[in-house]
Amino acid sequence: MKKHNFSAGPSILPKEVLNQASKAVLNFNKKDLSLIEISHRSKDFVEVMEKAQRLVKELLNLPMGYSVLFLQGGASTQFLMSSLNLLKTNGSAAYINTGTWSEKAIKEAEKFGKVTILGSSKDRNFSYIPKKLNCPKEMNYLHFTSNNTIFGTQFHDFPKVHSNTLLVCDMSSDIFSRKFDASKFDLIYAGAQKNMGPAGTTLVIVKNEVLQKTGRDIPSMLDYSIHIKKDSMFNTPPVFPVYVSMLTLEWLQNNGGIEWIEEINKQKASILYNEIDENPLFQGVASKEDRSKMNVTFILTDKSKEKEFDLAWNHAGINGLKGHRSVGGYRASIYNALPLSSVKVLVDVMHNL
Ligand code: PMP
Repeated sequence: MKKHNFSAGPSILPKEVLNQASKAVLNFNKKDLSLIEISHRSKDFVEVMEKAQRLVKELLNLPMGYSVLFLQGGASTQFLMSSLNLLKTNGSAAYINTGTWSEKAIKEAEKFGKVTILGSSKDRNFSYIPKKLNCPKEMNYLHFTSNNTIFGTQFHDFPKVHSNTLLVCDMSSDIFSRKFDASKFDLIYAGAQKNMGPAGTTLVIVKNEVLQKTGRDIPSMLDYSIHIKKDSMFNTPPVFPVYVSMLTLEWLQNNGGIEWIEEINKQKASILYNEIDENPLFQGVASKEDRSKMNVTFILTDKSKEKEFDLAWNHAGINGLKGHRSVGGYRASIYNALPLSSVKVLVDVMHNL
């Protein structure tokens, strides 16, 4: 039997998607060839890329004027690519520091211009989301991380910016998990390996009109405009991750889209946080009002129970519950593809400890 996979990323994908993907690796579209041995310029693969891009636009209800790209280099490459493409020479950008991934983004942006830290939750090991921030209007853009995978916090209200300032977001660990108004954003990026597909591709959604205004000569592979001009095929795209992402997006759409999954995600988070709050053996790590519905971080209040708890969840077929080394304790990642039934198994284990 397959394990209950609470891994933070790479993470669980829908069973149907894995079945279909494994078939395509052996024989794609009944062509007697594998998906991973055909040309990315073939009609069959071009259709995959176009469908993946269309599904992103439909699921997020993207208005006209946005491009959807499937790039390589992980979300980590987007830390620098976003600043290279949006930060004007001699310009400034604002960042909200909500943990490890924001810090890495800040470090890259500092190589290209002036960075202002608008707010930070470093003082309490990133256990909360800084609020009521006022972004000065001379900022080229404001960057934030919508869900903090390691610390288990999530923005439930997005920061607001002046009309001259672009809004940029790393949505790696919560994209497609809840409804939001995509038209408020100028650039969104997300590594595939949480809610979308296997590691190896990064989704980039960018508003076309904001590009080519920095005054700098950008290397081709790092230039969004070039990838847009070439329909996300400037170089050989990561065909397998793009195909599996397409299947996952199709799974989401066929089941009722983001409205459908958001409801299930709420239920999963609610029963798990409920157990954490009711059971004296457990304690949540993140501030209650900023709790993530994707990564639930918690600790045992009685350290002496650790061995017993670890044995119990392992015995129940649970995988990937150990917290990140910078937080300790436990982290249950309850991404889109994790069924409610798996969360119930974990809650039972906690309840019976
Ligand atoms: N941002 C966030 C929010 C993440 O969770 C991660 C990875 N877990 C990254 C960025 C880095 O992604 P990648 O490993 O694809 O570079």
